[in-house]
Amino acid sequence: MSKTSSKNILTILGTEVPLGTSTTINFNIAKLYTSTKVEIPIIIERSNTAGPTILITAGIHGDEINGVEIVRQIIAKKINKPVKGSIICIPVLNVFGFLNMDRFFPDGRDLNRVFPGSKNGSLASRFAYQFITEILPVADFCLDFHTGGGSRFNAPHIRVDPSNQKLITLAKVFNAPFTLLSKNLKGSYRAICAKKEIDILLFEGGKSQSNSKEIAKEGVLGTMRILQHFEMLHPDFEILLPEKDSLVVSKSSWLRAKHSGLLHIKTCIGNYVEKGEALASITDPYGKMRHLEKAPNNGYIINVNESPIVYKGDAIFRISNELLYE
Ligand SMILES: [Zn+2]
Repeated sequence: MSKTSSKNILTILGTEVPLGTSTTINFNIAKLYTSTKVEIPIIIERSNTAGPTILITAGIHGDEINGVEIVRQIIAKKINKPVKGSIICIPVLNVFGFLNMDRFFPDGRDLNRVFPGSKNGSLASRFAYQFITEILPVADFCLDFHTGGGSRFNAPHIRVDPSNQKLITLAKVFNAPFTLLSKNLKGSYRAICAKKEIDILLFEGGKSQSNSKEIAKEGVLGTMRILQHFEMLHPDFEILLPEKDSLVVSKSSWLRAKHSGLLHIKTCIGNYVEKGEALASITDPYGKMRHLEKAPNNGYIINVNESPIVYKGDAIFRISNELLYE
């Protein structure tokens, strides 16, 4: 940190934002087919004192409402007014998906797989390109909020690349209940940040098309811890000391359904389970079949499929295999 700390002017989408400014810039990407304008508000808060620039985003996947709620709370509670540096919040990146409660862009693309995008590509690709050329360069540090896809409920966790020790340390500062070491996917926001040497923490918690107060609380508290770490958090905010340190999961695997049928979950997200413990049962609708799904190893439940029905082979639980202790 930091390439922008010394700069008094921050330029976003061609607009100059001086120190001590509180403003919203609209990112216009494409109209709806009804000619209705689609605006993506970028909420910028700059202290009078120069310092790092933190970019906080959610809704890369339009149906991941819990992430949007976390950024909303950060703004509504004025946590985004720093005593030093700048905080940029974009609560809904994929407004098109958000309107339809859909993960994807209208072109069917996953925004989180098309980075760095291209100037003349499909809509998602153009969006990615503009985002990384006109917004991302001002950031010293990024926080990006997600949920599990479909009906899969994630325990609150931060994802970082296992080869980046600095990010593992920052994930411990955020202190979500879990930290998952996972490699960056090609075309993802994390991958482009790594390429541009911008630190990023990706938060996962809850499931799509859903909102959980507990998940939002973890996301907001973690953000406050990060802001305090960078000496940007207003002293009016009190941070409770975490009850325990984030558990760093270096390996995890999916337990997949051995049968198709109705799914009955017998455990809770975040629980520690022992090998052989019954975690769920799968039944047919006719009262003839009942199959128990048992834990293949000791570990923590970091994802639960909350769908009431599953097919054979569907992921039901993600369970930690190995924890990293230092
Ligand atoms: Zn996501």
